[in-house]
Amino acid sequence: MRDMQIYLDNNATTPLRKAAMTEMLAAMGPPANPSSVHSFGRNARLLVESARESVAMLAGCRPANVVFTSGGTESNNLVLAQYDHVITSTIEHDSVRHAHNRCQMIAVDEHGVIDLDQLAAKLSMIDDAVKPNTIISVMAANNETGVLQPIDQIAEMARSSNLAFHSDMVQVFGKSHLDFTSSEISYASFSAHKIGGPAGVGALLFRPGCRLASMLRGGGQEQGRRSGTENLIGIAGFGAAAAEAFGDIKHYDKMAAWRNDFEARMLDERHGITVFGKSAPRLGNTSCIAATGKAAEAMVIAFDLAGVAISAGSACSSGKVKSSHVLEAMGAGERAGEAIRISGGWATVKSDFETLADVFLQLYKQPA
Ligand code: PLP
Repeated sequence: MRDMQIYLDNNATTPLRKAAMTEMLAAMGPPANPSSVHSFGRNARLLVESARESVAMLAGCRPANVVFTSGGTESNNLVLAQYDHVITSTIEHDSVRHAHNRCQMIAVDEHGVIDLDQLAAKLSMIDDAVKPNTIISVMAANNETGVLQPIDQIAEMARSSNLAFHSDMVQVFGKSHLDFTSSEISYASFSAHKIGGPAGVGALLFRPGCRLASMLRGGGQEQGRRSGTENLIGIAGFGAAAAEAFGDIKHYDKMAAWRNDFEARMLDERHGITVFGKSAPRLGNTSCIAATGKAAEAMVIAFDLAGVAISAGSACSSGKVKSSHVLEAMGAGERAGEAIRISGGWATVKSDFETLADVFLQLYKQPA
């Protein structure tokens, strides 16, 4: 056992930034209902609106386009609930895949990129009468492989077909400069705990004119779009994390080089290594990698004992590992059971990837 644990599972969640913790501690205690008219309420309202500005800055949109929710899952569910039909991809997060019972799936290729021809064919078959109640939902980056989807092209296809387009942007948020305002995207989902904020808070961005009615019936908070007294402590932490993440984006450019060095070393020094999505554009922080004959679940435990926290496939809420629908959709077959996911975050340093490589080579002892 090592004394210091290296954390490389940031696509699951990230450590809380100090600035977020400070803001959250400051928000704890006073009575703080942002709808109250007295000074306590007004202070709470100021905090919410200042957090909204920070989130909007990181997303490249106007604060008025940001609705606070309880996280990525709720944002995805909220937007899809506005429509009767959903066209989506086979690699979406479960909070999109299972959010609607009328989902039509578009396949991805072996690199994990959505098949635009299949999407175009599907769009050409949609009846005009159904279009106002149909939405396309495709994630910007996959949480297991880091593969980026051509969302600008999809947005353009949606626009020219008169369809709304939603993108789950949970994994790209804070890792690249976003410009929601000048994009053609109708809605985007974000989550605080992937950028160094707390879990249980997120946002849904919507373009003016796009429908957005609250799923929850109640007090009509967030301009009637999300009822329920605001989670002030969470929102304060989200705002602080977003403000800091805005200055931190270049960290992920450097990380891409550390990740690439790690993968190159594995491929050079060992037989039977596969990096999923390697030929596609990818997030710089993610590596989904398999070594022949090594079951992912056992390797995660071995890595953990060696002081490196990573994950396998997609861990479901029970903590068990289920087979990855993403890798299956990419045609990985049995190799999916050998895939481990490494993902850096705001607190990751170069030596984390170097240590990861050393531990990996130790655990996969067979020479090249
Ligand atoms: N979408 C993607 C791509 C994710 O990776 C996650 C979290 O794992 C979610 C949505 C859900 O976000 P949250 O945990 O805030 O509900």
